[in-house]
Amino acid sequence: MGRDISKCSRAELQECKAELDRRYAGYVAENLKLDMSRGKPSGSQLDLTNPVLNKLENYITCDGIDARNYGGLEGIPEARRLFSDLLGIDVDKIIVGGNSSLNLMYDAMMRLYVFGTGGHTPWRKLPAVKFLCPSPGYDRHFLVCEDLGIEMIPVPMTENGPDMDMVEKLVAEDDAIKGIWCVPLYSNPQGVCYSDETVDRLAAMKTAAPDFRIFWDNAYGVHHIYRECKLKDIFGACEAAGNPNRVLYFFSTSKITFPGAGVALVASSAENLKEIRKHMSVQTIGHDKLNQLRTVRYLKDAEGVRRHMRLLADELRPKFDIVLNTLERELAGTGLACWTKPLGGYFVSVDVPDGCAKAVVALAQQAGVKLTGAGAAFPYKKDPRDRNIRIAPTYPTCEELQKAMELFCVCVKLAGVNKLLE
Ligand code: PLP
Repeated sequence: MGRDISKCSRAELQECKAELDRRYAGYVAENLKLDMSRGKPSGSQLDLTNPVLNKLENYITCDGIDARNYGGLEGIPEARRLFSDLLGIDVDKIIVGGNSSLNLMYDAMMRLYVFGTGGHTPWRKLPAVKFLCPSPGYDRHFLVCEDLGIEMIPVPMTENGPDMDMVEKLVAEDDAIKGIWCVPLYSNPQGVCYSDETVDRLAAMKTAAPDFRIFWDNAYGVHHIYRECKLKDIFGACEAAGNPNRVLYFFSTSKITFPGAGVALVASSAENLKEIRKHMSVQTIGHDKLNQLRTVRYLKDAEGVRRHMRLLADELRPKFDIVLNTLERELAGTGLACWTKPLGGYFVSVDVPDGCAKAVVALAQQAGVKLTGAGAAFPYKKDPRDRNIRIAPTYPTCEELQKAMELFCVCVKLAGVNKLLE
């Protein structure tokens, strides 16, 4: 346990600052060049998936289709089957698409915006469209809204998911609120897993907008590192609540196989899929079936995915250990930070004293460690308290990460002490 810096006298703070300045200068002199800014796998993690590259000696799918040719809008049957088994979603709810789930989310939003759904007014024709954005959240979700001029309403996260009292109140009162972004398992960046109650409440809540949609981005749905969290079936919950069309479910193998060269899917009710198919079939003749085929041949089946994820967890656990142990050793008891301890996913989220996140990121940057921009995890990049920082431990090596985390903790202390001395 460090000493509680927030309770130090001015003289003690000045002493502390002198010591921290000295340590910080030591890091600057090392000319570090480390990147903890994005959730990218390291080279060694990618190597674990290399067999995918040699899986196309035969390119005929299980139903005898030549995967080299056009066609198959919904994806090859073996891919739909694998994801159905893995995620517990009916095969006929799934369209396996191209290489990016974000792309599918953008297209889904665009379709609702341009064409509308279920005979309701297309969102582009409405005076205002708003989306609930549990925050901190995934920056690129928020950019999709920003791109289309959809007003974002931040909703605080709790340890069980978004603050559901607030969500229920907002959606009941305002028919301009058309949807909510959700990363229900090991959320980006906090690693929060939605409780069964949260899933049920999202599925059943009364919304003023009849065309309200949940964008259910289960990007980290199989990314268990320390222990497995279970997620309640959102489709079952929506159907039971009489809202079968409420959810658009997204998933991809970007963080399973190769980011940018994985396989993504969208899943939804029969009614929604009919609309999606109609527009998607204008947009493309079919997705990359060769990529689907080689990915499925490598992963084999749901158990194959789980086996592969255990390999990745063994690769990632030491990195999460480094982050969590260093935070504990350097910052616990200092009164200067609190952080999440995720059981899986790709990130750790750290809250520093109010008004210090930008300063911490700038200090780290000046010493050669690139962090995710302060505020990036909030709508319009505005963290109202300027306190949240996302740590992405996957890309650096363990040695680099250890160094980067030690520097990070010095930056947090320095920014905190500077603030207290103001
Ligand atoms: N959704 C979340 C929550 C993510 O964190 C990421 C990548 O970091 C993505 C989606 C991107 O997925 P894809 O590569 O399938 O577009």
